Amino acid sequence: MLRVAVVGSGPSGVYAAQTLVQQREVPGVRVDVLDRLPAPYGLVRYGVAPDHEKIKSLQGSLRTVLEDERIRFLGNVEVGGNALPTERLLELYHAVVYCVGAARDRMLGIPGEELTGVHSATAFVSWYSGHPDAAAQTFGLPGVDTAVVVGAGNVAVDVTRILARGTAELTPTDMPQPALGALAESRVRTVSMVARRGPSQGRFTTKELRELGTLPEVDVRADPAELALDPVYGDPAAAAALPAVARRNLEVLRGWAQADPAGRPRRVALRFYLRPVEVLGGPDGRVTGMRFERTAPDGRGGVTGTGVYEDVEAQLVLRSVGYRGVPLAGLPFDPAKGTVPHAAGRVVRAGRASLGEYVAGWIKRGPTGVIGTNRPCAKETVSSLLQDAGALVRRDLPDDPLNALRAAGLRPVRWPGWLAIEAAEAALGRSLGRRSVKIPDWAGLLAAADPDRS
Ligand code: NAP
Repeated sequence: MLRVAVVGSGPSGVYAAQTLVQQREVPGVRVDVLDRLPAPYGLVRYGVAPDHEKIKSLQGSLRTVLEDERIRFLGNVEVGGNALPTERLLELYHAVVYCVGAARDRMLGIPGEELTGVHSATAFVSWYSGHPDAAAQTFGLPGVDTAVVVGAGNVAVDVTRILARGTAELTPTDMPQPALGALAESRVRTVSMVARRGPSQGRFTTKELRELGTLPEVDVRADPAELALDPVYGDPAAAAALPAVARRNLEVLRGWAQADPAGRPRRVALRFYLRPVEVLGGPDGRVTGMRFERTAPDGRGGVTGTGVYEDVEAQLVLRSVGYRGVPLAGLPFDPAKGTVPHAAGRVVRAGRASLGEYVAGWIKRGPTGVIGTNRPCAKETVSSLLQDAGALVRRDLPDDPLNALRAAGLRPVRWPGWLAIEAAEAALGRSLGRRSVKIPDWAGLLAAADPDRS
């Protein structure tokens, strides 16, 4: 029997586990899926926006995998800490597949980033998604009239939309009650989403961009003069040569630039060719705005500064400039790429593939792609692992690793514990007159899961 630990129960981890048990080359594979959190599904639970119910419903297919009898979910198990160093994990399993994602946000590296009221979009996303590490976060929303979101990816679109949406639209979601309450008290009237490059270079997808225009209380504005700075905007032949997503994005933006405002209570302004230079603050240390430098296309896909500056007022700044992998103690790490060095998914140590250690998902390829991208990524990794299976199974393993985890002082939450969390979230929702509502803190999750009994 080949015993494998998958670290991380997000899409890449679950797809890796699924591929391992469904293949036929190596029979009798058993997989433990370990997660630091008591709840499974990674970014599908803690990153996909609560109002994106269709994508959230992917949890259903991840659930089916985790309920396979050959797979065991062990939540509340941190790998890489004192209780369970990576070397110890490899003693308990023939192979370990790290699917730990890219948990950290990236900084802008400009003056003023430390001011009160400047946050990463990832912190905001974690907070409204009920991530237990973000339970104590606050964003001062009652004092915010205008917000700036820096970046032009799908995360920037997500946080812009959540800031601009009315609470009536968010109440049916599973957003934790404290976040919903804080958003209800928000006085945000304008959200500016600011890109350093042009509209044809936005990283958002068209469906997500277009959705901004469907928010009932929001006028979306794009400045025709800014769109016209993009060389392809007024050149149909050049626009036709763009990738389909960029072409459709341009058309959506053109529509907003040409539309008259409908006089709705909130406004989303999509800004382009503005590079962040400095976060501006008042004497109380709070953010008051952001200074940008107007940029111009450099003809090679990048931009150059023009020496012209523009200040945009803001009492809240969310930087949404991508995720970054975090080094895991005991695993090699490439700080330049923010990933673990690998060859076809095999972890590479000192230039050589390390037998028994693998990576998949964002920690392998960086924070790109949609959820489905993780499927082929996990398959490649599992294929490497299966090629190594003959050498891997030569090693005798101790008994059930669960005993070793408990002996190390860990309190794994097993599947019944997760089901108890789900039931507690449904009950919480009922008590609030809502559908299922997330429990947003560690104490609440562990009380519901009761790991000592599960
Ligand atoms: P992203 O797609 O990589 O976008 C990052 C944005 O930050 C880009 O617009 C980039 O501009 C900008 N940026 C980077 N450094 C900057 C700087 N110093 N100053 C100003 N702007 C800067 O990252 P993401 O939005 O975090 O998304 C991560 C992944 O998750 C993506 O694959 C995304 O599609 C996916 N995702 C998907 C969904 C969905 O499908 N609904 C939702 C959320 C996330 P440049 O292009 O100029 O570098």
